[in-house]
Formats: sequence, structure tokens, C-alpha cells
Amino acid sequence: MRYLKAEDIQKALTQAICQISYESDPKAVERMRTAHEQSNHELERDVLGAILENNELAAIDNIPLCQDTGCTVIIAEMGRELVIEGATLQEIADRAAAEAQGKCPLRASISYDPLFRRKNSGNNSPAIVHIRQVEGKRLKLKIAQKGGGAENMSFLMMLSPATPLEKIKEQIVQRIVESGSRACPPLVVGIGIGGNFERCALLAKEALFEELGRKHPDEHYAALEQEILSMINKCGKGAQGMGGGLTALAVHVLHEACHIASLPIAVNLQCHAHRHVDIEL
Ligand code: SF4
Repeated sequence: MRYLKAEDIQKALTQAICQISYESDPKAVERMRTAHEQSNHELERDVLGAILENNELAAIDNIPLCQDTGCTVIIAEMGRELVIEGATLQEIADRAAAEAQGKCPLRASISYDPLFRRKNSGNNSPAIVHIRQVEGKRLKLKIAQKGGGAENMSFLMMLSPATPLEKIKEQIVQRIVESGSRACPPLVVGIGIGGNFERCALLAKEALFEELGRKHPDEHYAALEQEILSMINKCGKGAQGMGGGLTALAVHVLHEACHIASLPIAVNLQCHAHRHVDIEL
């Protein structure tokens, strides 16, 4: 067995949360920079220019990329020969989220009670943690600071397996286009297909944090990603909904087996503040 101390995980997590709060995914920045250079749309160039300048200043001055500093989301792969000493992963993540909120500093963005009291927890905890057990002794953590605007425009559909593919694509694109500027485009679009009701939502979340623009290994899903990306970008909504050809930076699909009577599809949107990193301990 391998033993890992809770405080060592917390330290790495806190550092990662601060880092991604100041620095967006470099590949997302690169795509926006290319579009900024190549666009013939004046307003799009202005908006992308402002986003790029904001990104540069945040990284130089160590200030958050956005006033919505987001909620800490962690997708963990935990080796079955690994023992964490001193705390559960949920407790460690909550402590790291709180430590980063004070240290970076970040806006306190978590409400303890979702409906009646809406009281701020005051320290960005609790974090949202998903754990999957895998072979080995390592702990792999996908860490994100997820903004509320893009999360609010995400959606889930329980479709009939008989739904034609064209209809599926249209429904997905229509909902994304209708979200306009509220998800803060240019977007990364994570699509989870299959599993069941809750599983496809997690697939969609995890799809966001695939390497930006990677090619799907299955040719059918690779083609689907490209078609949906092209349909979204043809809509003309553009950066922050101000027009132009860059409404989405990438579409990533993850899929899984599902019940023969079901076709669950979840779409999780990520804004241009694409704050995530993978670490391994
Ligand atoms: S959706 Fe993203 S860019 Fe928009 S306010 Fe929230 S964190 Fe900021």
C-alpha cells in the first residue's frame, strides 16, 4: 500500500486552485488569440482583445480572471492501493477551497442552502468531489473552478433512442445558441451521452476538461463533435454574444453504455474563463 498525507494533498490542491484562478487554459487562450488576429468582425475583435488583455493582466498580477471565481469541482481517480491519512478527500477538498479563497483571494461564491436561506458559506466550501476507484497507487485529480453563468445554461435531455441524429444535433445547438451571452462565450462544450440520468451529467462535466480540441478516438463521435462545433459557430453569436464566428472553442463528447430504452444526453457549458488543471500525486 502507499500512504499519502492529507496535508500534502491539500497543499497541492490549494496551489492548483490559485493557479487556475489566475491563468486560463493556454490552448483556449491560443484559439482566442488566433481568432482575434484573423477576424474581420470589428466587435468580435474588440471583445476578444478585451478578454485576451484581461487574461494577460490576471496572470501577471495574480488576480482572478473573473469576478465569478467559481466553485471548486474535483474529479478524482484514486488507486485502490492508496491510503489517504488524516482526512477524507471531500474534507481535504473543502479545506483547500477555503484556504485558496482566503489566500488568492477569491470571491466567496457558495451558498450553504440552495433554496430557503441562500446564506453564503463565506469560504467557498464545500467543493464538489467525484471519486472513481482505479488500479494502482496514484491519485489523479482533475480540478476546475467552474463559473455560475455557464453552469446555469447547461442542460440534460432524456431522449428516445429513436430520435434521429439530425434532431439531436439541432436540439443541442438550439439550446446553446439560445443561451446567447449568458454562458460567456466563446464556450467549451462538454457533451455526455449514455450512462443514465446522473452519469451523463458527470460525463459532460468531465468532457470539458479533455485536452482542448483533441480528436475523439471514435470516428463517429469525432465527426459529431466537428459538426456540432461548426453548427454553433455558424450561428453568428460570437464572443460574449456580440457577433462573429467564434461562439465555441471546442466540443468534446464522452460516451458510455446505457439502458436499451434510454438515450440520456447532458450538455455542460464552460465559459471563456476555462480554469482547470490535472495533477497527479
Ligand atoms: S460564466 Fe465564466 S466568464 Fe462568465 S461570469 Fe461566470 S466565471 Fe466569469
